[in-house]
Amino acid sequence: MKKLEELVRPNIWSLSPYTSARDEYQGKDAKVFLDANENPYNGPVNRYPDPLQRELKHRIAAIKGVPADSIFFGNGSDEAIDLMYRIFCRPGTDNAVAIEPTYGMYGVCADINDVEYRRVLMDENFQPDADKILAAVDTNTKLVFFCTPNNPSGNNIDHNVIDKVLESFDGIVIVDEAYIDFAGVPSYLSQLADRPNLIVLQTFSKAWGMAGIRLGMAFAQPEIIGIMNKVKYPYNINLLTQKRAMEEVMQFDRVQGWVESILKERTRLMAEFAKLDCCIKVYPSDANFFLARVKDAAATYDYLVNQGIIVRNRSKIALCGNSLRVTIGTVAEDNSLLEALRAYQQP
Ligand code: PMP
Repeated sequence: MKKLEELVRPNIWSLSPYTSARDEYQGKDAKVFLDANENPYNGPVNRYPDPLQRELKHRIAAIKGVPADSIFFGNGSDEAIDLMYRIFCRPGTDNAVAIEPTYGMYGVCADINDVEYRRVLMDENFQPDADKILAAVDTNTKLVFFCTPNNPSGNNIDHNVIDKVLESFDGIVIVDEAYIDFAGVPSYLSQLADRPNLIVLQTFSKAWGMAGIRLGMAFAQPEIIGIMNKVKYPYNINLLTQKRAMEEVMQFDRVQGWVESILKERTRLMAEFAKLDCCIKVYPSDANFFLARVKDAAATYDYLVNQGIIVRNRSKIALCGNSLRVTIGTVAEDNSLLEALRAYQQP
């Protein structure tokens, strides 16, 4: 890996971050807080939240088996994705490489930040080729994005490919594990201590069932986390989100129960979907959704919308012609989908 100082944009490397009142004073025993121009009434939301979310990080560190100073929390993992570009990529000069097709925000954040985005097409089983990825890299490539299990294809990406890029590429490798809890394979978190160029993304939006509170996680060695903390908005995770996440973390065995139910239902729904007249192929899934090729995705999508059932039409995405992406719901929700499609007369 190049030295971090060579990878980070010079203006970010030399940035003096804003220091908030809650950064300067961190002790617990004070009784009177007159430092942050808050309103003394309407507690507890009158107070600014902890800018570094220390209590929550402490809990997540224990659950994930990583040091607390290797954790960054963002307003969804989308915030962390955007930060990667703002920290590492000089607009108009640097570039990022990603598997294709994959999660759309990597490309959108590249566009927002005026960073060239290089898409490396996977094979028809949605597996990338490490040599093709490395061939797309040049001296201005700062980031390589993997997503495993991948969205929208739903499959785990071959770890040999990711490992080879981690070893051979001298920039930052991002492994987005938003769906890792459904994957049945180990997380890249176990490699964090040995890989200074690895950033792992996870989220509270999927297995944890908290998409509404907007809380994403990035894991990396403390040097990178320190830079992310410098660049983020001072109070990026609001008080209500921190509080709600703490409550959930205290009863996190519930998450395992949800995952088990979703996995069982995934097996059933995929098997039943494959029997439908409109279905050509159900792709294997390691996530809480699956991709299916159908005879006419646009017509099927419109029909389902008319029935009040919304799936995602991914037909315009590379390798996903005539494909719908279906999230695993409750048994009742999935039965509604199946019943509607069994009654569907293809035009
Ligand atoms: N990564 C992937 C692969 C996703 O599919 C999503 C959401 N669909 C995200 C990240 C964003 O998650 P968050 O809600 O944490 O912003």
